[in-house]
Amino acid sequence: MRVIVDRALCDDHGQCEIAAPNVFRIGVDGKLEYDERPDPSERDAIEEAADACPLQAILVQE
Ligand code: SF4
Repeated sequence: MRVIVDRALCDDHGQCEIAAPNVFRIGVDGKLEYDERPDPSERDAIEEAADACPLQAILVQE
């Protein structure tokens, strides 16, 4: 599984971090950081994060 965030869309407000805090986090610089190759156990949380993203900026590939 690979997670891709479209940086051109992302507004760094962090709804994804609320849904999947082990994968997404807003860093000290206020920018989104994320794990591109997360553990498969995070899949449900990542799908929730993708659904929660108001800009549909999160893509999950197999
Ligand atoms: S919820 Fe979407 S727009 Fe917001 S920080 Fe996460 S990826 Fe970016």
